[in-house]
Amino acid sequence: MEIVQNKDLKKFSWWKVGGFAEYFCQPKDKEELKTALSWTKKNQKDWTVLGAGTNVLISDQGISGLVISTKKMTDFSFEKKRNSLFIVCQAGVLKSEVMKIFKKHKLAPALFLSGLPGDVAGGVVMNAGVGDHLTPHEFSEIVHSFKTMDFEGSTTYSKEDIKWSYRKSSGWKKSVIYEVLLKWSLDQELDLNDKIKQEIKKRRHSQPLSEASCGSVFKNPFPLFAGSLIEQAGLKGYQQGAVKVSQKHANFIINLGGATAQDIHKLITLVQKKVYDLFKVRLETEVHYLGFWKKRS
Ligand SMILES: Cc1cc2nc3c(=O)[nH]c(=O)nc-3n(C[C@H](O)[C@H](O)[C@H](O)COP(=O)(O)OP(=O)(O)OC[C@H]3O[C@@H](n4cnc5c(N)ncnc54)[C@H](O)[C@@H]3O)c2cc1C
Repeated sequence: MEIVQNKDLKKFSWWKVGGFAEYFCQPKDKEELKTALSWTKKNQKDWTVLGAGTNVLISDQGISGLVISTKKMTDFSFEKKRNSLFIVCQAGVLKSEVMKIFKKHKLAPALFLSGLPGDVAGGVVMNAGVGDHLTPHEFSEIVHSFKTMDFEGSTTYSKEDIKWSYRKSSGWKKSVIYEVLLKWSLDQELDLNDKIKQEIKKRRHSQPLSEASCGSVFKNPFPLFAGSLIEQAGLKGYQQGAVKVSQKHANFIINLGGATAQDIHKLITLVQKKVYDLFKVRLETEVHYLGFWKKRS
């Protein structure tokens, strides 16, 4: 596995912004990941993990230390055991791949995974999911366990070890997830084809999927919805240079082409301020900021 210097990270972020990684590598398995982490220890460098890059805002100043991309960790296998389907995935297996396996077995998780971007490890970190009109509707319900690695070695966390909350999992220490084991009962086979088509249609109708975004920028401040507060603040479709609050979904911010991470951050801040001034609601970002950022409020 090569460790390269000064890698442009724009094409590793769905927002197509961001600077350079000081060092960059793409391990394809656990052994190569171990090599990468040992390298950071030996060279006294920080490390940062990038999954599919669908939920990150990478600073224009880039990321210092080693950026570990899991894009090449794409092996998976599945088996039926004790009346359940088990899928073992390396971190970088896309949710769309996993969705196909559930679909093939006519199992309900195929529904919420339809059209959900990113990889399985990103799904665990973010407890990715959709509204509770579906069962299951988020990762916490389909994860059996996952394995992580840091300088001290590997740790296995079972689903019960983790505190799962809205778009967040906690209770595991900062480390790289390298394997995820998914599980779902084989009890109920469903005819899913039409429902999957409906979910995808709904997404296409409500989200600007062909444009550069990170999905929902802000968490919903339950029981309210970030998108609707932004719309009520008159910001739907609001454009500032090359960034725009989507006309289709006000919780999406679009890079129209050529925007910088700072441009996006400025619009995020403006939206937060306006929504706070009008409704006294603080919108918390769902997107993860990576790299050099001045302390944010
Ligand atoms: C068009 C669009 C629609 C979306 N719709 C939804 C939706 O309906 N529901 C939803 O929940 N999300 C949605 N998202 C957001 C996003 O797809 C999910 O949060 C996804 O799970 C992120 O996965 P990723 O692989 O892209 O992670 P990344 O964006 O690469 O990383 C996210 C965070 O996880 C960390 N991370 C990634 N991999 C690892 C690892 N192996 N070990 C440790 N840490 C890691 C990163 O450092 C970062 O902090 C959408 C995004 C887009 C662009």
